[in-house]
Amino acid sequence: MRNKIAAGEVIERPASVLKELVENAIDAGSTEIRVEVLNGGKRMIKVSDNGAGMDREDALLSFEAHATSKIRDFDDLFNIRSLGFRGEALASIASVSKVKLITGLKGSPMGISVEIEDGKIKEIKDASLAGTSFEVRDLFYNTPARKKFLKTTSTELFHIIDTLTKEGLSHHHIGFTLVTDKHETMNLPKASGLKERLMQVFGNEFVSGLIEANSAAEGMELSSFVSNTSNFRNSKSHQYIFINKRPVKDPSISHAVYKAYEGILPPDKHPIFFIFLAIDPRRVDFNVHPTKREVRFEDKEAIYRFVNSRLRDRVKEDRTEYARQFTEAPGESVFRTPSFQGYINPEAPPSTFDKSVVAENLELAYRPSLPFIYLGDTFVAVSGKAGLFIIDHHAAHERVLYEKLLNGSPSMTRQLLFPKHVRVSGKEYAVLLENREMLQTLGFEVEDFGSSTVIVRAAPAECEDEDLAGILSDIAAGFIEPNTSFQSLRDSIAARIACHASIRGKKVLSQEEFNGLIEDLEKTEHPDQCPHGRPTRIFYSLYDLNKLFKRT
Ligand code: ADP
Ligand code: MG
Repeated sequence: MRNKIAAGEVIERPASVLKELVENAIDAGSTEIRVEVLNGGKRMIKVSDNGAGMDREDALLSFEAHATSKIRDFDDLFNIRSLGFRGEALASIASVSKVKLITGLKGSPMGISVEIEDGKIKEIKDASLAGTSFEVRDLFYNTPARKKFLKTTSTELFHIIDTLTKEGLSHHHIGFTLVTDKHETMNLPKASGLKERLMQVFGNEFVSGLIEANSAAEGMELSSFVSNTSNFRNSKSHQYIFINKRPVKDPSISHAVYKAYEGILPPDKHPIFFIFLAIDPRRVDFNVHPTKREVRFEDKEAIYRFVNSRLRDRVKEDRTEYARQFTEAPGESVFRTPSFQGYINPEAPPSTFDKSVVAENLELAYRPSLPFIYLGDTFVAVSGKAGLFIIDHHAAHERVLYEKLLNGSPSMTRQLLFPKHVRVSGKEYAVLLENREMLQTLGFEVEDFGSSTVIVRAAPAECEDEDLAGILSDIAAGFIEPNTSFQSLRDSIAARIACHASIRGKKVLSQEEFNGLIEDLEKTEHPDQCPHGRPTRIFYSLYDLNKLFKRT
């Protein structure tokens, strides 16, 4: 009876049986684990391994509650390195199903076969096997209430595959096979590393969209593969966290990962991540949840910072690498435009320019001068080494100005030759004067002139004089109704100024201005989005183009 109750905690469905059996096989040092299931595991689950095996005595003992062989003394309890340690899984499973265990110690000629039904031994026989095979039939046959909760075969199978996938990810050095109703549905040969295992499970293309980040600090180690900066999903379906090789759910660690993509992750998108943390077992407690999906750490914050800072750096590195590819000019051949000759009137007198002079001057004029064209008023298309890149010049400029303003770049402030009187509404007048100091850090010097009028003595370099009244009134609105999507009031005011001051309307940039803009954009913290979160640039790699034209 006690075991049946315990089973309710640990064994919810076939996948939970599978998890316990596979983890026992892993703890036994197996290098090959084979799983067979019938009807989504509802009829049968069999796990065979080539691990250490058990002798006769241990095999019989293993079904007793608290039969664990993994905790030898009190200290072990705080230094758990095996996946199992409670010693109740087998007892629980045996109490709600029909079990057949065949096992034998490695190198011993004789093994044992034990059959158990209703928690009682039904038959014991000699058998020969090196390793262990566990067969569990008719789960919950004696607890009909629970059996009723089992879902369709395909749903239970889904959970089985999910469970085995997680075990496979955290134990890449072990080979796993899954056979469902006689079909081999999964085959993961022993892999040399995590990357190879990820490829086996998800395919090469999937893995090519990930970046690797590893790090070690005192008592912690991180190995991870996460989305690169242009590979996000609409759901959280590919997010995995493992602590000491156990799959866990941990909102704090997830948050640390999301935070690493701050300013890059578009709204409603989600990164892919595989986070493997190894933490000194004395500093983690897996006992919180009976199925060990939740954990408690001694130092949650340190772990948060550790994961976040490493990933943030790595994501930033990737972004720079990615950006470099398309801000580099394409190969020379693109510039050599023989068709250009066709436009020269053959009748015209020969050019007085010596060709070589022209070439030299061109080289001097601009560093890598990026060929670009305007698509309408706002979008600029640029061809780079690795593909095509479309910029919203207004958004890009906004991002550049926003960061310059926030950093209080001195070149941003321009003293006005003729200080300007600006009349605003009473409410605006009050908030502008109230916030004079903050405005000063953003390049505006304003003074009181009385009767709802302020004098502007200095303004950010890029703000046109004619616009000042409009900008000030917009700034005032920012103080009156703070925008909650910004971290601070100052950020939101800076965004308003940047929006006003950035290129608008029909202004077309010269090559020089454009190069400058791209260079400045590169230097910003978050070059991919304007302060309001809209993209500043969209990139089509050659690969993307091939795909769009259905050439892959
Ligand atoms: P725990 O894993 O918490 O120790 P279990 O009830 O899962 O408890 O297993 C009880 C014991 O049975 C284990 O401690 C181990 O000694 C033994 N055992 C179970 N499965 C295997 C296996 N596949 N190979 C070798 N020994 C096993
Ligand atoms: Mg166990």
